[in-house]
Amino acid sequence: MTDLTLYDPFEKMQFTDKHCFLCGASITPEQRAPVFADWLQQRYSLQQKELLLLDKSVTTFGELTIPCCDHCHTHYLLPLETEIESAAAQGIEGLRALDQQRLFQWIGKMYYGTLVTELIKEMNPLMLPQYAVSEDPRMLGRFGSFFQVLQSLRVPMMFSDFLPCSLFLLDVHPLEDELPFEYQDELTTMAFSIKLGSVVIVCSLLDNGIIQQAMGKLYRLTQGQQLHPIQVAEFKARVFYAAYIFNVVPEYFIRPPKPDDDHLVLDTLIDDIRNEIFNPWDMTAYAHMLEEMLKPWGIREQEIMATPQQPLSFLTTEAQGFRPIVQFRK
Ligand SMILES: [Zn+2]
Repeated sequence: MTDLTLYDPFEKMQFTDKHCFLCGASITPEQRAPVFADWLQQRYSLQQKELLLLDKSVTTFGELTIPCCDHCHTHYLLPLETEIESAAAQGIEGLRALDQQRLFQWIGKMYYGTLVTELIKEMNPLMLPQYAVSEDPRMLGRFGSFFQVLQSLRVPMMFSDFLPCSLFLLDVHPLEDELPFEYQDELTTMAFSIKLGSVVIVCSLLDNGIIQQAMGKLYRLTQGQQLHPIQVAEFKARVFYAAYIFNVVPEYFIRPPKPDDDHLVLDTLIDDIRNEIFNPWDMTAYAHMLEEMLKPWGIREQEIMATPQQPLSFLTTEAQGFRPIVQFRK
């Protein structure tokens, strides 16, 4: 019989190096798993590459590990990594063909890995973080909901008619591309992006696909196109900004399993009656986000907002059609 019991580390705030992050089993300090899998570190030479954590401390991709029991490591993490590695080897087509739930779990594991690292640090009584995510009840509620669906990694789970996240896959033009790997995540808004060779995956982790719906038209424009990195940066700015103004926390409900069930079924609800789904779009705040993403090109806010109602875009024309790449060639 399959064990369908879920683990809830948020109930007792059980974030220590002595419990497996995924199932809660007691473990020794040596039992850890890399947040960024070995294959990823090898392929993109990440071991020594620096990574900035939320508390502004610096670690490396190689050093970032989370407490994980041998069973979860061998049975759940490694098979997932093998699957993603072989899909990624086939480029964007391989990743597109992948079960979206697997991609969600993979991204979710990296996101949650950085989050758990932060939470374990905050549990240390000698640490006084400036901003403690563990002291924000709304954030904790969100992380708890997220962990519920992330456990589909361990406990067989079917989402009734939704995917917990929005996923976007973008193809970068090889002639313009100089960066083999890039990684960005925003702990509080749960926006995430990772670049694997010529493919950029952008994700908003806990919106039940609402941002994907809202950005459907723009996303369709990018499909079948090889984008200039500046276009990818703009696309990321739009997703990250949408995640920033996203205002609701999806709730998940487990259907009571019958004794011989081999998986859980989850339903979801978004309370859009008491809350607006999005806070109002603020053009200046969006321009800040875009300026941040466009840093490598040194494009400043004044230029972005030259026509305030129509901020600078490298993706769309004034008529909202696709703006071809050729215009940006140096
Ligand atoms: Zn475990």
